[in-house]
Amino acid sequence: MSDSQIDKLEIVTTKRVSCNGGGGALGHPLIYMDMGSDKSVRCKYCDRLFKFNPKASAGKASS
Ligand SMILES: [Zn+2]
Repeated sequence: MSDSQIDKLEIVTTKRVSCNGGGGALGHPLIYMDMGSDKSVRCKYCDRLFKFNPKASAGKASS
């Protein structure tokens, strides 16, 4: 796993996530994704990987 992949990893506490690529010039239209039976989903626009982890809610790091 490369550093760039880690940089695009987003830990989420819900299986329904939204992504706009971070907004601004680097962003893309806001989309919503549902993981369904999976535990992760990748944004088709910015390639960001959202990983489901319900335990992350307690200590959510600022980013
Ligand atoms: Zn995105």
